[in-house]
Amino acid sequence: MSARGVVDRLVLLGSKGGPALRPGGPWPSSSLLEIGGRAIVVDCGLGVTRGLVDAGVSLKALDLVFITHLHSDHVLELGPLIHTAWTAGLATPVTVYGPPGTGHHWQRFCQAMEFDIEIRIVDEGRPDIRGLVSVEEFGEGSVLDEGGLNVRALRVDHPPVTDCFALRFEHGGRSVVFSADTAFFPPLAGFAGGADMLVHEAMLAEGVERLIARTGNGARLREHLLASHSLAEEAGRIASDAGVKRLVLNHLIPADDPAVGETDWTAAVRKTWAGDLTIARDGLVVGLSGHKAVSGEETA
Ligand SMILES: [Zn+2]
Ligand SMILES: [Zn+2]
Repeated sequence: MSARGVVDRLVLLGSKGGPALRPGGPWPSSSLLEIGGRAIVVDCGLGVTRGLVDAGVSLKALDLVFITHLHSDHVLELGPLIHTAWTAGLATPVTVYGPPGTGHHWQRFCQAMEFDIEIRIVDEGRPDIRGLVSVEEFGEGSVLDEGGLNVRALRVDHPPVTDCFALRFEHGGRSVVFSADTAFFPPLAGFAGGADMLVHEAMLAEGVERLIARTGNGARLREHLLASHSLAEEAGRIASDAGVKRLVLNHLIPADDPAVGETDWTAAVRKTWAGDLTIARDGLVVGLSGHKAVSGEETA
């Protein structure tokens, strides 16, 4: 998507960690990054299509999507997003960058939707969606270097998933890093070094205990969360070591506990991070540093 004339910004479309939905609560993981005139979708959790439309994005201009890993809260709506863009008039190429397995995922989605795809090609004269989309599977290192946009990947620590990648986007001296899902991973500080913004996943220890009590999948869930995700204090440690200009806490666990609010997140992260801070919520717009604040922007 072209975002020419638009100030560089990050829009947090879905800010919760994990796939569960609760009444009135936030959506799973997806973001829109507008940088250097490009509009880039990062992760496609449930709700990404709704979020993009609400952010004012024209779906038929979709052209660049990145997936950090294939957990459902990051990929479940990849196919539905592209398909909805297609029925909205998409007729230009889309490239999806994702870990190994992304191509298989997309092909199987198209198979599942074969009836609808074939009938719309004939009935509505649409181009074949299977010819519009190319999937580029990446590993660690350089992912994309095109038209001034540079993207690099770092394998992070998200067991049992091995192909989970932090992403660093750079354009015209501006840089934004997404941690993806990861346990505390010190090499991320080097990878994020000096970035304008680090979007890091975060858990709140006391909230996790209440979440475990509520979901009734106790020991197993606690084990997974602690082995595979970062506490807010750990995200702050990475941001401090990296010397980033702003830390955005995202992929929040818990994200929908009425007993947990921004003050709790702030209190936890302030133990390790003294710089500019944003606590994510759905639809929040964060301007990149050096630019004037954009409409709807809120920071803390
Ligand atoms: Zn996740
Ligand atoms: Zn994950």
